[in-house]
Amino acid sequence: MMRVLLLGGTTEASAMALRLSQVGIDTVFSYAGRTLAPARQPLPTRIGGFGGVAGLVAYLRAQAISHVIDATHPFAAGMSRNAVVACAQFGAALIRLERAPWVAQAGDDWTMVDRVEDMPAALPDTPARVFLAIGKQQIGLFSVKPQHHYVLRLVDAPDAPLPLAQTTVVLARGPFTTTSDTALMRDHRITHVLAKNAGGTAAQAKLEAARALRLPVIMAARPALQGRALDTVDAVMGWLGHSALRGE
Ligand code: NAP
Repeated sequence: MMRVLLLGGTTEASAMALRLSQVGIDTVFSYAGRTLAPARQPLPTRIGGFGGVAGLVAYLRAQAISHVIDATHPFAAGMSRNAVVACAQFGAALIRLERAPWVAQAGDDWTMVDRVEDMPAALPDTPARVFLAIGKQQIGLFSVKPQHHYVLRLVDAPDAPLPLAQTTVVLARGPFTTTSDTALMRDHRITHVLAKNAGGTAAQAKLEAARALRLPVIMAARPALQGRALDTVDAVMGWLGHSALRGE
């Protein structure tokens, strides 16, 4: 019997959820619980961490999960690594739904860094106005460059004082448009755009806006992950069908 666990938190995970519900595949959707009001899914949904590898193995067993689709964000490496180990231990089939990374185009001025932790050093020393759309978890890294003004785009209002002195918080949830991101960057007189190489369309507008405004972008590469990945909902549906035929 096929029973799927879909690890979510991305636009692609929502598209995957819609397709699975349309074809009636028995699926549980899982959110980490990072945002206050996560988007509703057309599937039974659970919210919160599993409790590491051991917790995830126990969950897979209790729920009799046969297939895990890891559609977490490419930078949510902890969850993806736990899924690899837990699925191997329990014996569930695992696939990652992962969009292709963004690639610089003509007119782009990108500085590539290996890790998010390397981003602050890539900023200039002279005061700049920085568009920081990298989520809330790692903004403390930028306290080493307090001379800059940071425009933070967040899903929810911060629940604790921000570790940066000069900030403007913009509350918004993607997907975003090039027109609105261009206007936002112009209104806030942005000089530098920081981005994690998430890929996909939901957060791409900031790169198109940066190109239109000829702004430099500091781009962090993705963490390396193990295991098989497919880049479309269709491909994952095909994988599910094939593994069902093999009796997995
Ligand atoms: P992470 O560092 O990889 O995960 C940390 C812990 O959060 C995991 O070990 C797990 O806790 C729990 N977790 C993460 N995703 C989960 C899920 N879908 N269902 C249940 N538990 C989950 O992840 P993160 O970077 O904090 O991201 C958290 C969530 O936000 C993910 O679902 C991701 O798709 C989404 N998101 C992340 C980013 C980003 O830039 N990192 C951007 C957009 C959306 P336990 O060990 O207790 O199981």
